[in-house]
Amino acid sequence: MPQLSIILPSYNEEQNIENTYNVLSGMLTEQGIDFELIFISDGSRDETYTNICKIAEKDTRVRGAEFSRNFGKEAAIFAGLELSRGKATVVMDCDLQHPPEVVLEMFEEWKKGAEVVEGIKSSRGKESPMHRFTTSVFYGIMSGLIKMDMKASSDFKLLDRKVVDTLVALPEKDTFFRALSFWVGFKTVKVYYDVQERQFGESKWSTGSLIRYAISNVTSFTTFPLKIVSFIGMVFVVFAIGIGIHTLIRFIMGTAVSGFTTVILLLLIIGGLILISLGIIGNYLARVYEEVKGRPRYIISNRTDERQ
Ligand code: UDP
Ligand code: MG
Repeated sequence: MPQLSIILPSYNEEQNIENTYNVLSGMLTEQGIDFELIFISDGSRDETYTNICKIAEKDTRVRGAEFSRNFGKEAAIFAGLELSRGKATVVMDCDLQHPPEVVLEMFEEWKKGAEVVEGIKSSRGKESPMHRFTTSVFYGIMSGLIKMDMKASSDFKLLDRKVVDTLVALPEKDTFFRALSFWVGFKTVKVYYDVQERQFGESKWSTGSLIRYAISNVTSFTTFPLKIVSFIGMVFVVFAIGIGIHTLIRFIMGTAVSGFTTVILLLLIIGGLILISLGIIGNYLARVYEEVKGRPRYIISNRTDERQ
């Protein structure tokens, strides 16, 4: 059993694999740490998996798996957690935006007794203004909803074997790794790092995929939006009783106003709110539906250690 496993989700990262391998294995060998690298190719359409296989053939400390299609980074992280055998496991991006030296810092913290070491961004590095805006709105909402400060958190973490086993045993399929590692608790230590520039290639996130990711994460983590729906419903009931009594009194007294505008406005507002509420409920229903179907989180089509 290696001391340290490093999980590297990779989606169309053919240019990064070899460089990342060289940097990490060089650094860890120098430090005398017994390690394994696990590359998960998330349904890449380029040569990512071929490159992983080439390295795995040369170096038995490297293993890799390929998904049958793109299942997303969350799925890749969980596949890695399931495959990892180390006493401690680090999850990091394979574009080296998470600085490799910080892995050593995390490892030191783990040796001192930490069970979860959170990588916290002290600066976010270069991002487009649109990306910065969407991520800041998303993390603002998320932090409020799940009552944890998510703004600077990332998927860059070290987890003890115990924590990995706990996470892998969770039955839910629709996970949010970043928040789950807070949720499980354990002895947590923070380590700060500056986001580096991507080594090769470009970011795999579009604004659209970030929004989908955001909605899926909120619904998978908290039922707060459902509570807002009932709250708005109650406010409207109180409002309706007031206006109802007022209207009836005016009608009985024969002073009812023609009030066409009011009727139209009320209809539009209430119609809009009902549709939004239905949408929110629908989103949760969709989650339940997905979980109930019990499909696997990901499908592995190839593994480098298949023949063993
Ligand atoms: N990634 C993945 N599946 C995806 C999208 C991204 O496994 O569907 C991986 C990607 O290869 C990288 C990490 O997740 O190792 C972070 O992605 P990226 O660098 O594109 O995001 P950013 O750093 O811009 O947030
Ligand atoms: Mg990146």
